[in-house]
Amino acid sequence: MTNSSAVVGPSKLPRVGTTIFTVMSQLAAEHEALNLSQGFPDFDGPEALRERVTHHLNHGHNQYAPMTGVPALRAAIATKIEALYGCRTDADAEVTVTSGATEALFCAIQAVVRPGDEVIVFDPAYDSYEPAVELAGGRCIRLRLPAPDYRPDWNAVADALGAKTRLIILNSPHNPTGSVLTAADLDALEMLLADHPALLLADEVYEHIIFDGAEHQSLLRRPSLAERAFVVSSFGKTYHVTGWKIGYCVAPPPLASEFRKVHQYVTFASITPVQFALADFLAEHPEHHLELPAFYQAKRDRFCALLEGSRFGLRPAAGTYFQLLDYSAISDEQDVDLARRLTIDHRIASIPVSVFYRDPPGDSVLRFCFAKDDATLVRAAEVLCAI
Ligand code: PMP
Ligand code: GLN
Repeated sequence: MTNSSAVVGPSKLPRVGTTIFTVMSQLAAEHEALNLSQGFPDFDGPEALRERVTHHLNHGHNQYAPMTGVPALRAAIATKIEALYGCRTDADAEVTVTSGATEALFCAIQAVVRPGDEVIVFDPAYDSYEPAVELAGGRCIRLRLPAPDYRPDWNAVADALGAKTRLIILNSPHNPTGSVLTAADLDALEMLLADHPALLLADEVYEHIIFDGAEHQSLLRRPSLAERAFVVSSFGKTYHVTGWKIGYCVAPPPLASEFRKVHQYVTFASITPVQFALADFLAEHPEHHLELPAFYQAKRDRFCALLEGSRFGLRPAAGTYFQLLDYSAISDEQDVDLARRLTIDHRIASIPVSVFYRDPPGDSVLRFCFAKDDATLVRAAEVLCAI
């Protein structure tokens, strides 16, 4: 074996290894553990949607899609956004279909972050943000969301905003904590940015997975924020089809135009038959997403009720399909060690939350995905209650 650093020279991402999602899903598979680690449903997306994919596969929609996305899908996205958030968007100039939200986040960051720029992110932060910023030559300023509520401290953001701040990355509903931004948070952000030119990147992939009657506070609701924002979402979450890797970015024309310069050389275009199928499904079932809050809230509540007899503590979860469990009454192990041991010894896989921090607070919490059939949740709770 050759010494890899002798071949490639110093790594461009020296702090990056294999993602925790890959590590934990592989460990779960090796040990035949229940996999509540990586976030994906163990049930299928709507049959009518899958039927439309088969239809378009068999009716000649198998060559390159337009670079920005199939027009009917972009139009359907614009219609949905206007109905939901009261934001009129030009589907041709402002909506770009991407190969998952991951691609959209990467392209947005590459499009605007320059060497020496600072990007504000909130810890615990989804793992794809910082590597993308570093590849662009920027630097993340990581502000902490304090447990157990994990709400942004806008005074800390005000202190961090400076001449080098190029971008602020927001994620609501928030992975991994399940916290959500409120209208008051957006008020605070509007005030802060009134005299600062920072751009915004809003990761809103869980926009429809929000509980207890709360409304998702998309940046698209606020013209003064939307005019400087890339807003990203994912059909993978909304339609329970994470493996399709299809999402989109909405941005005002000057930002969309820079975004597309990158997108056209990252993937060029996204999978054609799936785009046609999504356009049909959005037109035929515009109400589908209305079911999601109740659907996933029932799963959250079921999982939490099943865990009542356990020694795990429940952190509040206002959105996403993740539940944080506090294990301080059970063990003083590091979360990475415990997640590994639970997978191997108890055959249940979770995600250690410390990996989403630059400086982990030493909090004893693990993340469990409850986007699972009831039978899976019952089996998982049986295991967890016995620990
Ligand atoms: N952002 C967040 C917060 C996520 O949890 C995920 C994935 N689960 C993504 C982005 C990526 O979405 P996609 O699978 O569509 O690339
Ligand atoms: N977003 C998913 C999660 O948080 C994982 C996506 C991935 O594996 N990259 O679990």
